[in-house]
Amino acid sequence: MIDRNTSCELHNVPLIKRTMYDSLKVMNVDPTGEYMKYSWQFPHHTPFNFSETKLYDSEEPVTIVSCTKCDEELRKVLDASLDK
Ligand SMILES: [Zn+2]
Repeated sequence: MIDRNTSCELHNVPLIKRTMYDSLKVMNVDPTGEYMKYSWQFPHHTPFNFSETKLYDSEEPVTIVSCTKCDEELRKVLDASLDK
């Protein structure tokens, strides 16, 4: 049985914990149409508004749990959609 909280049900790999920064707290950012179209297919991708780089001093670090394969595959799909 797969525990949805510790592993990805799509890729069957353990989820990774990372410290990230939420850019939505300091500025308005909208997801792209492509992101909205494809991201739901990858249940444990890192949401678009989180980054490992701190953009503003006011940003507080948060712990994000995600699947590296979901991130990888979503990035590939988004990259491919840009080439069209
Ligand atoms: Zn996954």
